Amino acid sequence: MIKAILFDLDQTLIDFIKLKKNASRSAALAMVSAGLNFDKKIAGDELFKFYLEDGIEGNTAFSRFIKKHNGTVDDKMLALGLNAYLCAKKKYLKTYPGVPKVLRGINKKGIKLCVISDAPRVKVYQRLDLIGILNLFDIVVGFEDTGELKPSSLPFNKALSLLDVNPSDALMVGDCPERDILGAAKVGIKTCWARYGALDKTLDSGADFVINDIKDVLKCIED
Ligand SMILES: [Mg+2]
Repeated sequence: MIKAILFDLDQTLIDFIKLKKNASRSAALAMVSAGLNFDKKIAGDELFKFYLEDGIEGNTAFSRFIKKHNGTVDDKMLALGLNAYLCAKKKYLKTYPGVPKVLRGINKKGIKLCVISDAPRVKVYQRLDLIGILNLFDIVVGFEDTGELKPSSLPFNKALSLLDVNPSDALMVGDCPERDILGAAKVGIKTCWARYGALDKTLDSGADFVINDIKDVLKCIED
């Protein structure tokens, strides 16, 4: 019987790539308005590429972007870009449709909820708070909890021990087959691939369940 569900955050509960793309576009437009010599139409995509190189949590993307296209880092450009980015991030930071309702439904069944993310814990708390679902979770496991990234067994074992459940009584839901599904399966946790959030939807995830909508996670715990 499933007693706890572990959710990955980005691309599972939040469409983080969409958010980053939109925020990058706003930031790039603000920088162009501040004098950066770049084609407005493609500036957002160009800035987003720096994020992909940097790691999606990286914080040098803006300065490298400005340096490349302006020669030197202009602080005014950087400031306006950062402000536009922060405004856009707030606007576009949203759950996938139906997430809060599904989580409340799981809560009502007495099943514990956990977020297990490779992101720093503070960032995970910030995102959960901004989208209004923080209080639905019993625990959060972020990068600092173990110092290891998924698919290491450590974050999964940490979550199980904090939740006080056996691996076979837990379900991991995530978009990334290599990190979320493989990592959880290795320690004996049941797995559910959030195909809707995956960049490549044609993959063979190897998961016990595959869902195309968050609400279908409820079917996985009925089975
Ligand atoms: Mg993810």
